Amino acid sequence: MLEILKASKIFPNQRLPSHFLEIEGKVSVVCIPGKGRGLFAKQVFNPGDLIIGHRALEIIFPDSAATVPSSILLSRVKRFRCLKESLAKLASTDEEVRRKLYFLHAGPKLGFVGGDEREVKKSISLARIEGVILVNGFQGPSTRVGETGGPFGLWYLPSFINHDCSRANANWNIVNDFIFIIAAKQICVGDEILISYIDPDQPYAVRNELLLKHDFICTCKLCNLERDEGESIRRQRDTILAKFKNHVDSISSNFLPDVQLLSSILEELKFLRRDLPLEENPFVLQPMMQLGLALFERNKYNEAIPLFEDAIKLCRRLIQFSSVATTLSIAVLKCYLNLTPENTSTNYEVTIKNWIYAMRDCIIIQYGSRQGDDDEWRGILELRMPGLLSQIEPYLK
Ligand SMILES: [Zn+2]
Repeated sequence: MLEILKASKIFPNQRLPSHFLEIEGKVSVVCIPGKGRGLFAKQVFNPGDLIIGHRALEIIFPDSAATVPSSILLSRVKRFRCLKESLAKLASTDEEVRRKLYFLHAGPKLGFVGGDEREVKKSISLARIEGVILVNGFQGPSTRVGETGGPFGLWYLPSFINHDCSRANANWNIVNDFIFIIAAKQICVGDEILISYIDPDQPYAVRNELLLKHDFICTCKLCNLERDEGESIRRQRDTILAKFKNHVDSISSNFLPDVQLLSSILEELKFLRRDLPLEENPFVLQPMMQLGLALFERNKYNEAIPLFEDAIKLCRRLIQFSSVATTLSIAVLKCYLNLTPENTSTNYEVTIKNWIYAMRDCIIIQYGSRQGDDDEWRGILELRMPGLLSQIEPYLK
């Protein structure tokens, strides 16, 4: 993983050289009555174990698609069209690609061609390719400032992994043309591997619309909770989230975040779900982080720490926030490094050491680690946060 992360710095936004091999964990595609198909574990995976690392069947990077980057929508539409055309070209000459495109689910009308009836026809319709991309395409995050959305691609085996907003046990990560599926919780033999396709801190209507594109309605704990809460609470929450977004959009180099406003937004969001544990209220995550950062910028480290800690607890429950957990654990560590033993209530050195290990675990769960290699996380930290490693190394001795 570290080699691929390093290579992605040398070859940004392009396919990695062919000597980077795919990683095949022990998994199998299984039919689930009434639900379609899913990917199941044939071995135990511990948190941080790489389950699979796959090259894209086809991927479109922002550079090659977004010639008109002025509008997010336009570039997304363009990326979609590029991927469709490129897959059609591949499928016209490559029988294996065609077979995979027939075997993947292409939406309610076209379904998939599998089992005994599967036969690789000489051609494949654009409608099927479009359906396959809609249901199975993965959109990566932007990798550069100013980019409107990241790479968009199709990966074969990961396409069989089902979604759950709150019970996901694995994490996905796109690095150049690779996708990595990493165990984020203990996965036993026979367990279904579940990821989350979306971030659950978006308004319910947005999430529902995104998941409908994948051809299902989510019945996870969080989505059911929101359906039960009813229209009035959802509308109140949407108003608060819109106020939050407006404020964040207005933050610039000469306009600092408003601590009081962020605090009141956070309290209002907590109040709407006051009878439930914080981990079941993903909407508080972003305001909590922004407030923590605002306090950090004002050197109020002791006030920022509990906010970051609460946010990390939430991230540990909801695996799709693994990358956020890494950022937050680095933030807590920086808070402590900015404090001195006199102005912390706990044993300073022990606290720092504990947070270094907490950060290591976050990095391993986000990026994965080669089994038995306890040092790989150091390399990843050095890539992400140059200089921090040398600052914390004395505490590890
Ligand atoms: Zn859900």
